[in-house]
Amino acid sequence: MWDASKCNLCGDCLVNCRYTGYDRDGAIAEITLLMEGKDAEILSKCTTCMACSGYCPTGADPSDLIFKMQEKIGTCPIVVVGKPAREALVRAFEEGEDPEQLIPGDPDKPALSLDAFRFDNFPEGTFDSQLFRGMTMVRGGEYASLAGYVHMGGASFVEKYGQRVLDNLARLGKDIVYIHNEGFVLAHVKANEYGFRVPFKYMHLFEYLRNYLRDHKNNITKLGKKVAYQANCGTRWMPEYEAYLDEVFELVGVERPNRKYERVNAVCCTAPLIYTNRELAVDIQKKNFEDAIACGADAIITSCPICYGVFRRPSSQFNLPNIFITDLCRIALGEKPWPEGSR
Ligand code: SF4
Ligand code: SF4
Repeated sequence: MWDASKCNLCGDCLVNCRYTGYDRDGAIAEITLLMEGKDAEILSKCTTCMACSGYCPTGADPSDLIFKMQEKIGTCPIVVVGKPAREALVRAFEEGEDPEQLIPGDPDKPALSLDAFRFDNFPEGTFDSQLFRGMTMVRGGEYASLAGYVHMGGASFVEKYGQRVLDNLARLGKDIVYIHNEGFVLAHVKANEYGFRVPFKYMHLFEYLRNYLRDHKNNITKLGKKVAYQANCGTRWMPEYEAYLDEVFELVGVERPNRKYERVNAVCCTAPLIYTNRELAVDIQKKNFEDAIACGADAIITSCPICYGVFRRPSSQFNLPNIFITDLCRIALGEKPWPEGSR
């Protein structure tokens, strides 16, 4: 959450931004305008990638300031394009649109929350996998993660509906495993920031997969591949969870070689840009895939259904398989083959 008291106006956040091109004076001028509650050019240029919060040396969380100001000013492309999605979310909470879908599981197993994602947003067969066998599965508009609405001009949704989402999950009476990062962010990060109650135990997908693979080591065939990883922007809120991902990669026998667009320097999957600046989106995708190929990757690994969907086109264009993290595990467990005809 933005904390003005931590900002020393150093400008590092926007100087390091890959998409907006500010020198130090320009960066400081933009942040100053935002801190004064005024419109600023950055609001229209920002792709909502969240990297600047990682670049900020003091933990002031500048991307949160930008997202709040984008919503407040209301005229930048991301906010304009995001209007239908925001309205649909409000209807979900206020009118019951997109009602709960629940597949009951074993009483002693946790529930897998898809947030508001549909089952078919994930690769075919995901929910039949041994990875999730016996788990209750739940999704629906009133389980939306909310945190991801910063990409659609809806920074205030967390505060408005966050406790309701957490209470809906609590009513299941189960521990929760989040298959999507932003749901976890609501429970793990935003709940602290906004003082929400989280009356259940919860776990991130990466930790869950690490545990499952560690418990089923004998069923794993090491893949012996190199992979590039496309970080979901929401992981910027909890970078420490990449340690679980690194363990997953080790367990399934894939190497994550160093590359330019990695960890704090990861680039946006471009989902927020497709409808606002397609030319920039295509350019970022090209650089991202070329970087992945240059580091010797046999595939690019995604962990967010939005990144996974957006990458279908460049994956085909650059002939670099786009493998969802659960599918990577399923391949190692013998449920699926490595993508045919690929590297
Ligand atoms: S969120 Fe991303 S695009 Fe926006 S200012 Fe920060 S680094 Fe730049
Ligand atoms: S938000 Fe952080 S990086 Fe940006 S000007 Fe303030 S202290 Fe510097």
